[in-house]
Amino acid sequence: MLRKTLSLLCALALFAWSSAVCASPKDDPSHAKVKAYFNRLVADAGDHGAELRLFLNLMPKGGDLHQHFTGTTYAETYLDFIKKENCWINKRDFSVILRWPKDSKEYNNPDYQKTLPDTLSVDKLRSDNKMLSDFFMVWSDKDFYNHYHDQTAPDVQFFGTFANFSTILKYDGALYIEGLKILKNRAQLENVQYIEQMFVSPGYKVTNPDFDAQARSAVASGNIAQLRSVFQNFIQNVVKPDPNFAKGMSSYNDRVKSCADAVNDDTFTLRFQSYVSRNDSPAEVFSALYTAFCEADKSDLVVGVNIVNAENAPTAMSDYSLHMQMFRYMKELFPGVKTSMHAGELTIGMVRPEELTFHITDAVMVAQADRIGHGVDIGYEVKAPELLSLMRDKKIAVEINLTSNDFILGVKNGEHPFRLYLDHGVPVVLTSDDEGVSRNNLTDDYLNMVQRYGITYDRLREIAANSIRYSFLNEKEKQRQLAILDKRFADFEARIAKMIATTSKH
Ligand SMILES: [Zn+2]
Repeated sequence: MLRKTLSLLCALALFAWSSAVCASPKDDPSHAKVKAYFNRLVADAGDHGAELRLFLNLMPKGGDLHQHFTGTTYAETYLDFIKKENCWINKRDFSVILRWPKDSKEYNNPDYQKTLPDTLSVDKLRSDNKMLSDFFMVWSDKDFYNHYHDQTAPDVQFFGTFANFSTILKYDGALYIEGLKILKNRAQLENVQYIEQMFVSPGYKVTNPDFDAQARSAVASGNIAQLRSVFQNFIQNVVKPDPNFAKGMSSYNDRVKSCADAVNDDTFTLRFQSYVSRNDSPAEVFSALYTAFCEADKSDLVVGVNIVNAENAPTAMSDYSLHMQMFRYMKELFPGVKTSMHAGELTIGMVRPEELTFHITDAVMVAQADRIGHGVDIGYEVKAPELLSLMRDKKIAVEINLTSNDFILGVKNGEHPFRLYLDHGVPVVLTSDDEGVSRNNLTDDYLNMVQRYGITYDRLREIAANSIRYSFLNEKEKQRQLAILDKRFADFEARIAKMIATTSKH
């Protein structure tokens, strides 16, 4: 706890210096040419989509601070994993059918599949275009708008995909490393140098109906002192004495270490956020949250804690205030641990209007979040002016996910609060969320941002630098990453300036 608290104090001291060094673009001829070229492309009335994509694809983007491992992995990769493990697909619902465990005598029984109804090998699925197309529509958002079919609601479609992913990953833990290497390669191809990833959930959680009843009753009556005593007793009497708690935490930290060791090098850095599911029972959320904070406090690789899953689901909505109190309590126990919280991933029509009025506010003002994920419903929040000022003054960045907000919420263009945050001086980072489900990449969202909001080159560079500046890296690592980003921008600008010089039009 002490170690992370001290690094927090150092971070405050060094923040101003890092902003001064890296916010100002270099004053060289290439920079001026590239800036003029980009601003002209954006300002031109003509469609420069392809030219802008080329530019943005090659442009260094710093980090991706909001990425879920399972949702970022493409369905094609999951099929590779299923085939590699000699497992099958269920013909009826495209779920994974596992083979017997590797250490069982049945594992190599060639007749095993025959005993199962409706199974399909990956090769067979891939040889049938119709079925393969249907598979992608279940495992991702692919073709959602291209077919007339019995329409699922977009949020149900999106969040429903995740149930498929964990089965095969849990079957063979080595697949995590393979998946991370694929994501690293993809990141490097689009010039991303750092990922802060929601990777796997904490190593421990427990159900406890008594805790659920007591915690919900205390928060409903507004008795926060009583709630905190319920929290304290649960940690002392249930979580800490359970041998599975220490065991789970240590296996979690072993896993993140082996995974980080397999992908980190001088050119690429991966760090993790531990996270809880907002649709679990209160005891599960609380025990997992305590574990997540302990994990983050103990490991330099786990740089933050998050809360995930559909915010409009019944449990997430009814326990929202309780979750905020849980986070606040943990922040007091572990002041050095950073939190980013999915909050305000909602819009009108999804929930009752009064339920759109406080989620981001409470994540910042009650739960003390260090960053906000999504923040889409800000326009409905009753304390929006005070919240925006607070986020600006305390440098609480908002992670903008344009593609997933468009699909899940139907919020885009002028309805999206991207400009609202920018105009109020709130630090903005552009993030990908779930590239595999959404079937896009970070460059695609940079293109969306530029085409929709017409931002300048200076602003673009600032947003890229924000992805390191507002990351949860310690200050020394942040400085190293910012220096790398600066160097990459210098190389990029020299390359683009050369390209411009060889074309007649520019
Ligand atoms: Zn997310």
